[in-house]
Amino acid sequence: MIDRQPFDNKAYVETIQSSPCFICQLVAGDPTNPHHIIYENSEAVVFLNKYPVLYGYSLVAPKAHREQVTGDFSQEEYLRLQALIYAVAEATRIYVQPERVYILSLGSQQGNRHVHWHIAPLPAGLPFDEQQLNALRFSNGVLNLSEAERQELAAGLRRELARLGFA
Ligand SMILES: [Zn+2]
Repeated sequence: MIDRQPFDNKAYVETIQSSPCFICQLVAGDPTNPHHIIYENSEAVVFLNKYPVLYGYSLVAPKAHREQVTGDFSQEEYLRLQALIYAVAEATRIYVQPERVYILSLGSQQGNRHVHWHIAPLPAGLPFDEQQLNALRFSNGVLNLSEAERQELAAGLRRELARLGFA
């Protein structure tokens, strides 16, 4: 069982509402806000959620700054991204062995505008009332993963993704 630490939601909200787009920063390789990148191609990037409420939680985003989950994409672009999301979810299912994999797109025009998808593995065996949206709440605290544990997780997901054709 991995330890959890309380999540400072107020500080997080202040940061995302006052900072430049963190996904554009990540794509530009800005060293002030490092992330563990699992995979990237010319159109999209996959990286570990920096504030994981569940083990194996990653995010998938287009490299270009798009905001509307469907409206800012042609159907062809959208489906190409979904093929990657499918593979990330499968890599997660294989590597983490969760009960289910949740896939969501959230975000807001008031912060976190750059559209992204959450690939969130639900651990096996959680009681029903701790599943679904309750499993995703920051009020649960975030997992206390060391740098080495994050690197190992990113490497494991990268390896499975490569097996699925995204190398
Ligand atoms: Zn952006």
